[in-house]
Amino acid sequence: MMHRNPTLITGGMVVTETSVAKLDILIEGEKITRLANTISPESGWEIIEAEGSYIIPGGIDPHTHLQSKWEGLETSDDWYTGTVAAAVGGTTTILDFCRPDSNSTMMTGLREWKRRADKHAVIDYGFHLVIREVNENSLNEMKEIMEEGIPSFKLFMAYKDSLQINDGDLFRALQRIHELEALAMVHCENGDVIEVLIEQSVAKGHLAPIAHALTRPPELEGEATGRVITFAEIADAALYIPHVSCLQSLQAIQTARQKGLKVFGETCPQYLFVDIGFLNKPDFEGAKYVWSPPPREKWHQAHLWEGLNSGDLLTIGSDHSSYDFKGQKELGLEDFTKIPNGGPSIEDRMSMLYHFGVAKGKIGISQFVNMTSTNAAKIFGLYPLKGVIAEGSDADLVIWDPKRKRTISSASHAMNVDYSIYEGVEVEGAPMRTIVRGETIALNGAFVGRAGTGRFVARKLDSRQQANLTKEAVWR
Ligand SMILES: [Zn+2]
Repeated sequence: MMHRNPTLITGGMVVTETSVAKLDILIEGEKITRLANTISPESGWEIIEAEGSYIIPGGIDPHTHLQSKWEGLETSDDWYTGTVAAAVGGTTTILDFCRPDSNSTMMTGLREWKRRADKHAVIDYGFHLVIREVNENSLNEMKEIMEEGIPSFKLFMAYKDSLQINDGDLFRALQRIHELEALAMVHCENGDVIEVLIEQSVAKGHLAPIAHALTRPPELEGEATGRVITFAEIADAALYIPHVSCLQSLQAIQTARQKGLKVFGETCPQYLFVDIGFLNKPDFEGAKYVWSPPPREKWHQAHLWEGLNSGDLLTIGSDHSSYDFKGQKELGLEDFTKIPNGGPSIEDRMSMLYHFGVAKGKIGISQFVNMTSTNAAKIFGLYPLKGVIAEGSDADLVIWDPKRKRTISSASHAMNVDYSIYEGVEVEGAPMRTIVRGETIALNGAFVGRAGTGRFVARKLDSRQQANLTKEAVWR
């Protein structure tokens, strides 16, 4: 470990999950070692003045796809560019989806993902393991994967003939997740019905980007969400629903949480700010907004904000999966089914939520911290190592300037992708400094760190912390 002098951050408003207070923070090595109203500096300490700024726990993005493939096509962001963009945007830890090749074991996939991240990632990271097939081998292997520090598994109810798992297999996997006290993450869309709608759309010659959204209606997301919740309830498995895009899915989650079930919902910035109308943009630009589940009619957005406020949606994941418009999205010019699914969101996740959430008065600053960091730490077994500003925690911090204004644009962003889904949007509030385990790696929107400083974090779930994020059972 590189030796560093102690660092004192002074005069900032320290935000935790429940409070905001003016506190000094002492960092020694990689840890926060003291928090106090005033800490007198000693000679040799580095002093960072944070007057007028918030100091928040570094963002935790629980949902990324770096150097990932969609039908053989590789995302434009790899582990270096993707984590640099995350750092510039205020994120200090990501949980990325490790998806083994169809013919390889989960352990082989894991080794490959570790190889990709190692020496490239600039922030800390963990993985979720995608279960492509449920059988004796994969069910056994789940235990070994957990012993590697990966207690969260992803299953798909969509993408027929590739990733989709049938109901029986899904249920068996959920039973195994219960046995192992792991966490299930399930992509909720009814893949069988979507396949029929796609075939019919293609047959009618409806091939433009908008057909992507029209063949994946919100009812099919709501139906799948309710279905997997039912299975998880019978199997008594903890369940995380990523990328909730619509009221139908939110309602299924709310019903489950009213019963006190361990069901956690995530939404993504793109569902709060991009609606189905974007897919109708001229000159094929609608393809920039093709991801799954797709953008919905605008009225869903108010419900998602309500879900965030009620705590039924607990986290904001980016679902970052970036493909260039030129040369990649364009592959679907004649046929929407050939457009690679995904959008770039890792860098602006926190800025967009801060500006339209905190600055516009929709959510408080502590809620912002919970949604962008603390709740993910609690659900995924990173707390209190990460996700909180406390003595003994990793010094993963962001000094957030609530007044700094900037205009989001692909001309200035750090992501390695040729467009922005928020092009031209002006936001107020941005990270001034991003610190990972005591080291400053981004300053005023510029990356100042080195490749490979990010580290794999082995996780272990904490059922008590998870339980704290469920609703009191009303009928037990
Ligand atoms: Zn995803």
